[in-house]
Amino acid sequence: MTSAALLENGTNSAPLGWLERVGEIASNDLNRAAADIDSGKLYPADILRAFGKAGAWRQHILPDGKVDLLSAIKGITLIGEVCGATAFMAWCQNTLGWYIANSDNAILREKYLEPVLSGRQLGGTGLSNPMKSFFGIEKLRLKAKRVDGGWRVKGNLPWVSNLGADHLFGTICENADDATHKIMILVDCADPNVTLLPCDPFLAMDGTGTYGLQFNDMFIAEEMVLADQAMPYVERIRAGFILLQAGMAAGNMRDCISIMERTKASLGHVNCYLDEQPEDFAKSLAEIETLVADLCATPYDRSPAYWRRVVDARLVAGEMTVKCAHAAMLHSGARGYVMANRAQRRLREAYFVAIVTPATKQLRKMLADMPA
Ligand SMILES: Cc1cc2nc3c(=O)[nH]c(=O)nc-3n(C[C@H](O)[C@H](O)[C@H](O)COP(=O)(O)OP(=O)(O)OC[C@H]3O[C@@H](n4cnc5c(N)ncnc54)[C@H](O)[C@@H]3O)c2cc1C
Repeated sequence: MTSAALLENGTNSAPLGWLERVGEIASNDLNRAAADIDSGKLYPADILRAFGKAGAWRQHILPDGKVDLLSAIKGITLIGEVCGATAFMAWCQNTLGWYIANSDNAILREKYLEPVLSGRQLGGTGLSNPMKSFFGIEKLRLKAKRVDGGWRVKGNLPWVSNLGADHLFGTICENADDATHKIMILVDCADPNVTLLPCDPFLAMDGTGTYGLQFNDMFIAEEMVLADQAMPYVERIRAGFILLQAGMAAGNMRDCISIMERTKASLGHVNCYLDEQPEDFAKSLAEIETLVADLCATPYDRSPAYWRRVVDARLVAGEMTVKCAHAAMLHSGARGYVMANRAQRRLREAYFVAIVTPATKQLRKMLADMPA
């Protein structure tokens, strides 16, 4: 069966309880670890595996081959209410599963899909540079030479997250002999010909297992090719790639709304003079969630009108997350300025929602370049 036939849109029939279990792990283990993840002391591999065991990474790819992005987003949202860095890793992991499930390469699917959906195998996605290159923002950084049984890949990527020595990620390279030909590949970090380079400390997202990648003429066997023709494949996966990011936005917004609500008892008499109130953000969040739920019903819709709505929803989600976290700081006042208070962490994490690919400026360019 080809992946197109394998993956249709449908309703999740997974046993009830997985979301409650994800919520429990988020409020307990993840809550305790959030500060260490934020400061970069901890890459939470065990917690990510526990989420996988609970079913968090398999909600979008159902056993009957149907697709349910909305359930996966609900899981990421619960995680994101507690920790934005882990919500980002949840997106990385879910997106890796999304790539593999949508591949026509049966050998690759057979070998890697179940380990990734179960969380036994962790990994991420290196599509920022390719996504920027497709919209004329920068050049594709990885070049591939055809060799017997596969490709040899050279080049580097500045950042890929949710990685470690035994992790996987998907990315795209350009055929060195034909720039119109792009290949989407799965990279095994255990290969000695790909080097993981530590990054300088970040403003947030430090515990996300983020590395620079150096490809030293790395051999990619045919069985690691996600799509020999990356462009039509990207058209298939691009809406899912973007829509799954909604969980990062919704989780951060939910927590910031709750931070604002909690200040009411002691500061409500003065916070009421602030322009933006938690009720306003709750309304915006509900609108974003309704729109995303609607878009999740048809992730394989290739019409320009659908694509514009997806891009627009992503832009609104990123901008609203930053506004909401900014308001949570203003409502919190001095107590939010204390490092131990999470309001400042939520603001730093919110910026990432707006700068991770597709970043706000890229989304605006994409909308400007689209036919009216
Ligand atoms: C913490 C973190 C995690 C990330 N994880 C991933 C991931 O998992 N997968 C993925 O594909 N992308 C990842 N990215 C990249 C991210 O998605 C965006 O592409 C990035 O934030 C910049 O996007 P931008 O559109 O604002 O580009 P800009 O910042 O405007 O431009 C990006 C370009 O500037 C150059 N550049 C700027 N600063 C540096 C630097 N310090 N080192 C090297 N080059 C630099 C590079 O050429 C780069 O391509 C990550 C970024 C960060 C900060």
